[in-house]
Amino acid sequence: MATGPKVQCTKCTKNAAIIACEGCSAKFCRQCFNGHRQDLSKELDNITYEHDMFKQQLEGPKADGPHRLLKQIDEWKKDSVNKINQLADQCRTDVVKLLDKNKEQLVHRFRKITNSVRKGRDDEDYDERDLIRWMSQLKELKDELIRPSNVRVEEDRQTSPWIQKIRISEGVLEQVKINEGKSWLRPAQLC
Ligand SMILES: [Zn+2]
Ligand SMILES: [Zn+2]
Repeated sequence: MATGPKVQCTKCTKNAAIIACEGCSAKFCRQCFNGHRQDLSKELDNITYEHDMFKQQLEGPKADGPHRLLKQIDEWKKDSVNKINQLADQCRTDVVKLLDKNKEQLVHRFRKITNSVRKGRDDEDYDERDLIRWMSQLKELKDELIRPSNVRVEEDRQTSPWIQKIRISEGVLEQVKINEGKSWLRPAQLC
């Protein structure tokens, strides 16, 4: 028989310990040991509950919408489309402004031609060279209206990719240490 000093119960720290729990190594008086077993039993109920809930989730219909990963792809798509829409809107606004500015200049140049033609006709003062000049000036304005020489839409190849591609990769599943003989409840949670 052991005859050393009595060990105190870890839990109540009053009574002498008579039983050690193999799971958490704490030493208990009989009363506290019963309490400890009850705590473990409650925890097992919790696990059973979680277990059943997960089973339902695993086997049941997809009630909570598309998977998080699918949502992530949708999110990326939405963001990318938004970026494109915003840039297209901005560029459209800029082009409209520049075209308006160009048109003002064209109108100004056209008025000059109009005056010149009118004056030539009124004064009967024109010959082939004037006709050719006016015709070529009008053609120039027409071309400029359709294909402005000072405004271009071009792809920017200097900057880094503006919309990042996404891809799907498969890695190794993280192993949960349930089946390695260890308890996955830490003793500190219970004692
Ligand atoms: Zn005790
Ligand atoms: Zn224990």
